[in-house]
Amino acid sequence: MKTFDAIVIGGGPAGYVAAIGLAKAGVNTCIIEGDRLGGTCLNYGCIPTKSLYHYAKLIHTIHKHQDLGISTGPISLDFKKIMEDKQKTVETLVSGVESLMKSNKITVINGIAEFEDDYVVRVKSEDGVQRIHGDYLLIASGSSPVLPPISGLLDGLQMHKVITSKEALTLSLIPPRMVIIGGGVIGMEFATIYNQFGTQVTVLEAADSLLPSFNKELVKRYKPLAKKQTIQTLTSSMVTQIEYEDDIVKVTYKTKNGEEVIETDLVLCAVGRKPVYENLELTKLSGIIYDERKVIADDFCQTTISHIYAIGDVNGKSLLAHSASKQGVIASESIIRQMALRHKLVSGQAEPKGFSQYCIPQVAFLIPELSQVSAPRNDKDEAAELLNGKFSYRSNGMALAHHETDGICKVDYDQVNERLTFMGILGESSSELIHVGVHGIDHGLDYHELVDSIVAHPSLSEIIHETLLDINKMSIHQI
Ligand code: FAD
Repeated sequence: MKTFDAIVIGGGPAGYVAAIGLAKAGVNTCIIEGDRLGGTCLNYGCIPTKSLYHYAKLIHTIHKHQDLGISTGPISLDFKKIMEDKQKTVETLVSGVESLMKSNKITVINGIAEFEDDYVVRVKSEDGVQRIHGDYLLIASGSSPVLPPISGLLDGLQMHKVITSKEALTLSLIPPRMVIIGGGVIGMEFATIYNQFGTQVTVLEAADSLLPSFNKELVKRYKPLAKKQTIQTLTSSMVTQIEYEDDIVKVTYKTKNGEEVIETDLVLCAVGRKPVYENLELTKLSGIIYDERKVIADDFCQTTISHIYAIGDVNGKSLLAHSASKQGVIASESIIRQMALRHKLVSGQAEPKGFSQYCIPQVAFLIPELSQVSAPRNDKDEAAELLNGKFSYRSNGMALAHHETDGICKVDYDQVNERLTFMGILGESSSELIHVGVHGIDHGLDYHELVDSIVAHPSLSEIIHETLLDINKMSIHQI
């Protein structure tokens, strides 16, 4: 039986980042992947969606400039080529992770892992079963789409009339009509993409608001922009049944006013994700705790068994790739400390920080992008007295020059504890700009530290600067 210091199960952004962190400290590490290195993020999530989003954005930008001095004639899409380009990006990044495994001397085993006991993992592959022993084990098995108990949904999956996000990334034809069940980030990103590709998109969301994890005011400002793009969004609309008649799919949904039926060609189910651990035989472990939403892990991602960690989507703390990677770093550093290895840690902290002490940026790649970050909750919140700052893209020179005036930035600043508690941006490049807020919150910057710098002109960063100045009503260009 092969023996390793650490075994990582799952090669997504949680697993491969943890493996690299461990290997860099000299820990003899093996990573087991049942599908493809890079996990959901590189293969079926963040990267392929952003490749398609790039094309969607391009189409939108071209249309927007038709009356502004550039004319192209009708835009024709070669969907096959777009999909090929998306796959090329995915392959480049996956082979990048493979190279990283090699250069960091991490053993990669292809196969499905399951626990035999607290230290031994069995890996099943086409070549048979091999047993491996690890002193430390990291569960990084990710998540998979939730399939809600809607009548007709499973039949539809078999008939390829209902798809999940994974299939939505490999369609061979652009569907004329698509109903998306779920108005969360994944649903709305696909709505944005396929709407720009020419699909008539209807989003059905059971909650009373789209994008429920985002700031209500920013979502309210986004809604008319979605409407202008002809994305139909219906909230308080709970899908109850899907039926099939020849090539037509009939989706029944309940509203406050009764039942409605919508006809479509394809249904995308995007109602959330659940942890993947059913193939791991967790019952063979001596007392690991889990439920249908998560494998329980503490702030350092340690499970109830001290040498076993659960990182990334599987622990249900935050279903985002950057959270998964951070947890990979936190867990690997925790193991490095436990092994008492002398190593320059990424965090470089004398006092290790747990995951909940960091703020987590959230981004929805819509047109325009919607991004936000909130301070982690703490006991200072009780005394908080919030001041607000706001600034519109319309009042910014760069936004005007680029015809990107649909947008706003808003912040909350706690004047008692002198710290930024929230930044939300609806607007062009907000996925990049939001990191001013991330740094401000993570490093506890006060008002003066936040505003006392020179910001390049013209730039969208001036919007952030002006928003922060508006906390004290000192914004220069606020109209
Ligand atoms: P995963 O990336 O899911 O990796 C887990 C790996 O474990 C998989 O490769 C799987 O094959 C393997 N595995 C599972 N069980 C076993 C086993 N028993 N043996 C061996 N291997 C196993 N997040 C963002 O931050 N930004 C985005 O823009 C974004 N866009 C997304 C778009 C879509 C359509 C989707 C679906 C997700 C998106 N996400 C995004 C979420 C992001 O993909 C996940 O949060 C991230 O991939 C989680 O990383 P992970 O390492 O925990 O799990």
